[in-house]
Amino acid sequence: MEHDLFEHEQQIYDYAVNRTIEVLRKSAHFDFKEYITIAKEYGKLLKQLRRATRIADRTTTNLHESNLDLIDKVHNDTLTGIYNRLYMEDSLRRIIKSMARSGGQLSVMMVDVDNFKKYNDTYGHSKGDVCLKLVAETLMASVARADDFVARYGGEEFAVILPDTDESGARRIADNMLENIKASNIPHEKNEIAGHVTISIGITTGDVVRTQSGADYIKCADEALYISKRNGRNRYTFIDFKEEKA
Ligand code: GH3
Ligand code: MG
Ligand code: MG
Repeated sequence: MEHDLFEHEQQIYDYAVNRTIEVLRKSAHFDFKEYITIAKEYGKLLKQLRRATRIADRTTTNLHESNLDLIDKVHNDTLTGIYNRLYMEDSLRRIIKSMARSGGQLSVMMVDVDNFKKYNDTYGHSKGDVCLKLVAETLMASVARADDFVARYGGEEFAVILPDTDESGARRIADNMLENIKASNIPHEKNEIAGHVTISIGITTGDVVRTQSGADYIKCADEALYISKRNGRNRYTFIDFKEEKA
């Protein structure tokens, strides 16, 4: 049962009505008309207050729902439904802060679909969109822990954030990703590497320190990704994290 905010006022009202009836019984000179007017006004006011409270409650509920919807839109990529770059950057900042206190290693990966321009050219842009959704799902299914996450970095590039994960853990996940993308066997006849969609990965791992920036982790992972591309694609490359000096 909903709590009545005006319970006390209602009690005053009920008391006043009962008290008046009592007095009326004893006195012949009671101004009944004036009393009725005041009592009616009081009753009306109570009703209005209850209505205003109901409206305010409804507005608060609607605002709360719109807020949740907005948070979802701000954090998620509209095409794939996974986290977007903004969420990833905010999270990375928080993760570095908290891991600097607890200690441990952070691994970051950049993943890029190989020869994706040719995929669009061969199958069309909307098939390209479906392909990106499939790749996003496959990458998501390849991470191991609840704190790991995949975000769409932009275009056909994804960032993978692996808190408390060392080099060997990150390599294992990269192997999973390459294996699972191969197993999903998305046809790509113009891919120079295989008859199906393939990905290239860059990995970096660092001992987290408070002064590090998420952007530096992304930059290192991107450098590693570039080496994977140069060495023939459909592979991962690992490089140690190094902080960019200002
Ligand atoms: P590489 O192996 O070197 O990565 O080659 P690539 O062709 O994948 O790379 P490039 O950067 O030349 O092309 C990326 C393509 O991804 C071009 C762009 O049209 C496509 N792309 C980016 N975002 C989307 C999207 O949201 N949907 C679709 N269908 N295509 C996209
Ligand atoms: Mg790219
Ligand atoms: Mg590409």
